[in-house]
Amino acid sequence: MKCPTIIAGPCAVESMEQMRTIVPFLLSMKIQYIRAGAFKPRTSPDDFQGLGMEGLSILEAVRREYSVKIVSEIVDIRHLERMCQCVDILQVGARNMDNYELLKELGRSRVHVLLKRHMSATIAEFEKAAQYILQEGNPNLILCERGIRTFENATRNTLDLSCCALMKRRLDLPIIVDISHSLGRKDIAAPMAKAALAAGADGLMIEVHQQPSIALSDAAQQMDFIEFEDFLQNIRAAGAMGEL
Ligand code: PEP
Ligand code: MN
Repeated sequence: MKCPTIIAGPCAVESMEQMRTIVPFLLSMKIQYIRAGAFKPRTSPDDFQGLGMEGLSILEAVRREYSVKIVSEIVDIRHLERMCQCVDILQVGARNMDNYELLKELGRSRVHVLLKRHMSATIAEFEKAAQYILQEGNPNLILCERGIRTFENATRNTLDLSCCALMKRRLDLPIIVDISHSLGRKDIAAPMAKAALAAGADGLMIEVHQQPSIALSDAAQQMDFIEFEDFLQNIRAAGAMGEL
């Protein structure tokens, strides 16, 4: 079985000290892709907005110090040049899936892009957003299902696994499932991750924080180190992880 890619890390970069705690732990778990937002598009302007440029400098240092690959969200095309110095994969967050000028500009570059599905986008709309990038000539695209809005409120969003299976038929692109933002909780992360891999996902995104209860964003869904280790063990035991 092909080994799924795991992208793990905190919701947001909070400090260098935080990253120096989290990254060595994730490396010890054989995780090579670290996620951490420097720019955080939050629903409320009163909530933590990320460290911005300072966060990027931390990511740049972390990338150099640990030789890891960094995934981080781009919210403004004016940040492209600087972000390319600090980050390996530029994430387009759910809220920017239909920011077509941003998508076209990323399409004109050759950067690796992780495109998230908007919480209210149909699968057809998600596919068209991907085409904005592909048609400008950038084939380095990874898709990400991160849950959609429904009437259900036991989870933060509703994880739409048919999106994985259908996008695999529509586009020849890797797709990963963001377990954390789909669920907004961590107690059912393992069974949903196994389901995602069974539905054809090529990888998973999971938020991990050194002390989730004091995280500056998404405290309820971030796993602590013990929870993440258990989570990995659980999906490995199911044989869903190849050699990882
Ligand atoms: C994130 O991954 O940091 C994030 C904000 O997710 P989404 O865009 O899916 O809400
Ligand atoms: Mn988050």
